[in-house]
Amino acid sequence: MRTQAVVMRELGDESVLHLEDVELAAPGPGEVLLRVLAVAVNHLDLELRDGRSRMPLTFPHVLGRELVGEVVEVGDPAGSEWSAGDRVVLLPHVPCGRCRHCLTGSANICLAGWMPGIHGWGGYARHVLAPVRGLRHVPDLPVEVLAALPISFGTAWRALHSAASVVTGDWVLVPGAGGGLGHASVQVAALAGARVIGLVRSAAKADFVKACGAEHVVLTDTDGWPDEVRGLTDGRGVDVVVEHVGGDSFEGCLAALAPRGTLVVAGGHGGEHPRLDVIEVFRNELRVHGVRSQRPDDVERVLDLAAAGRLRPQVDQVFSLEQAADAHRRVASRQAVGKVVLVP
Ligand SMILES: [Zn+2]
Repeated sequence: MRTQAVVMRELGDESVLHLEDVELAAPGPGEVLLRVLAVAVNHLDLELRDGRSRMPLTFPHVLGRELVGEVVEVGDPAGSEWSAGDRVVLLPHVPCGRCRHCLTGSANICLAGWMPGIHGWGGYARHVLAPVRGLRHVPDLPVEVLAALPISFGTAWRALHSAASVVTGDWVLVPGAGGGLGHASVQVAALAGARVIGLVRSAAKADFVKACGAEHVVLTDTDGWPDEVRGLTDGRGVDVVVEHVGGDSFEGCLAALAPRGTLVVAGGHGGEHPRLDVIEVFRNELRVHGVRSQRPDDVERVLDLAAAGRLRPQVDQVFSLEQAADAHRRVASRQAVGKVVLVP
């Protein structure tokens, strides 16, 4: 069928994104054709676009890892759980279900998994082909809100509950607390009963971060912010950090950790090679724990909690497909409060 998609034919700046007419094959066995209702723009999209992601793409390519859609056609409809008109999210990481990681409870690091917008065409389009295995039913929430859930909130859940085993009363520090993963981490930590300190670069985001559940908000516009964080915990330091900024943020957050504290690394757009003081690490038995994407049950859990009103994804701005380049500029500006979303 003919449809439209934001196609990129080479790596580069925002100018490589073009809305074009494209041809999609009919869905094969194990596939559905979705009409895209909304797709979130993630930092990773920007890095895939300009080559910083270190993930190879096959051109022409269509970005879009976090999408909500409506089933238009099912490849093999006999006995299928899905039918035309169903509203679904597509998992950003569809695990293989067979490898060692999938069989031992770590499907989020399945190396044979399939990711829309990386291994195949993603959701910056009016229609997309998707594997049936990656579909999940969605609650009755606005499509922009649903598109803002799987990656940010699913990853926040994995970081705080699986990697850091957060418990009631823990101090949790969240850099970039007004952004996508940041505001999700503040909400997930507060829901777990943690005491949350949000870090922001601009005072304009402070009220929003507090509304997400942060007890304190600290500005990172001076070098003394790690001491300020430590002061808020009576000198002890924080138990958990959900670090996804990198660079100076990583170094400052490590300095703000309490003994036996856990720094979860879930990204590093602001600097991929921060300095690590190994003396601080072994003397205080610090843990640095990477987190890659999210398991299907993490996405299911945050969908349920959003349906119950206990998690509230914030949508910063909605753009059309024609405005995909503007949406990328908005994410790159770091001015966004919550998630940037495209609605075809
Ligand atoms: Zn697997």
